Amino acid sequence: MTGTTLDDYTDRYARRVRGMTASEIRALFAVASRPEVVSLAGGAPYIAALPLDAVGEMLNELGARQGASTLQYGIGQGTLELRERICEVMSLSGIDVGCGASPEDVVVTVGGQQALDLVARLFLDPGDVVLAEGPTYVGALGVFQSAQAQVVHVPMDADGLIPEALEAAIADVAHSGRRAKFLYTIPTFQNPAGVTLSEERRERVLDICERAGLLVVEDDPYGQLWFDREAPAPLRARRRDGVFYLSTFSKTFAPGLRVGWILAPHAVRDKLVIASEAQILCPSAFAQAAVTTYLTTMPWRQQLKVYREIYRERRDALLDALADYMPAGTSWTRPGGGLFVWATLPDGLDAKAMVPRAIAARVAYVPGTGFYADGTGAGHMRLNFSFPAPERIREGVRRLAMVMEQEAAMRQVFGAVGRGPVRRRGQAGADVPGPDLA
Ligand code: PMP
Repeated sequence: MTGTTLDDYTDRYARRVRGMTASEIRALFAVASRPEVVSLAGGAPYIAALPLDAVGEMLNELGARQGASTLQYGIGQGTLELRERICEVMSLSGIDVGCGASPEDVVVTVGGQQALDLVARLFLDPGDVVLAEGPTYVGALGVFQSAQAQVVHVPMDADGLIPEALEAAIADVAHSGRRAKFLYTIPTFQNPAGVTLSEERRERVLDICERAGLLVVEDDPYGQLWFDREAPAPLRARRRDGVFYLSTFSKTFAPGLRVGWILAPHAVRDKLVIASEAQILCPSAFAQAAVTTYLTTMPWRQQLKVYREIYRERRDALLDALADYMPAGTSWTRPGGGLFVWATLPDGLDAKAMVPRAIAARVAYVPGTGFYADGTGAGHMRLNFSFPAPERIREGVRRLAMVMEQEAAMRQVFGAVGRGPVRRRGQAGADVPGPDLA
């Protein structure tokens, strides 16, 4: 088919392809990674904090001495050795044998992303509803969209998902004759909002889902990256039935290895493995051996502390810079861990429309629209603090504040487009989430 154009393919696409568009993050990636741009846009961990020489030696050994197994096919569920180590990692957060966690029920995946895709394959038919926080993880939106499911967002405030809003959303969906299959939630150090579901709400959210017959898909890549105090125990540590627990080594070790996992209710474990085999045959034996060896021979708990300390300093740099530079009427969340702050702009500013001006000013962020299935969220932006050094973060926020001031001034001169007139609230840097998060 040489010389064919895009049009020659479009009428052949499967229905699920229709809604596939590049995520806002991907579109930004090329420009944001130029060295002169301070990127607050990504979600990359600070890999330079790893003992890279030692990790390199370990990888070398795995090829040279254990190549016969590490370069071979493996089993679909993942190696028992790694699944045992994964149980050790989960026990740090309170998911242990006491609550039924066992290597038997762990399925190793290609990152947290495949874990999400597998759950979607198992449970979603076209037209099914997924309840998810608004905003939510952009990669999950892509998975649900591919499954032709419909995402209904449930709002959050500074304590995470609002239980009353969840009840209302469940009632609305039932009323409209649609079927909600599960709640997708990132309860701890949420991406992108940076908020954490409070202890008290964890029980309520679980009760609500149980009563409504909703499964819970708990995505927890960030729980171990706490800064001030340990995160509340995951939902899976509180209920063994009806909760799928998804996590990954991408943020606590290395995303390049692409190793994640699902702890599944025992009854569906086999179906997950079958679905995974249909997709990838088996996860990479080499990557699994790398993670297993890392967890067996290297000081991984110490490394978690290293990441926590670096990210705490960077979070503080971001929060201080926001307080110092942001124009009146801007507010933002104060994450106790994870990688992101969610900022709400003064009325009338549109984060999506402002991207080209920000890039010209050599700063990048992800506009809030990327994190909603319905394209709302233009009044917000996600700011990452894990990757840039503290002084770069400060410089990035200074540039961003300048762009916002200019944009606001332009709108006053030329009139507002889109989100209504710019209104000054005369209040500097409030530390509570903005209206769409409340
Ligand atoms: N879930 C969430 C909430 C995430 O933020 C990410 C990565 N940014 C993933 C899943 C996917 O992680 P992985 O890199 O392990 O595929």
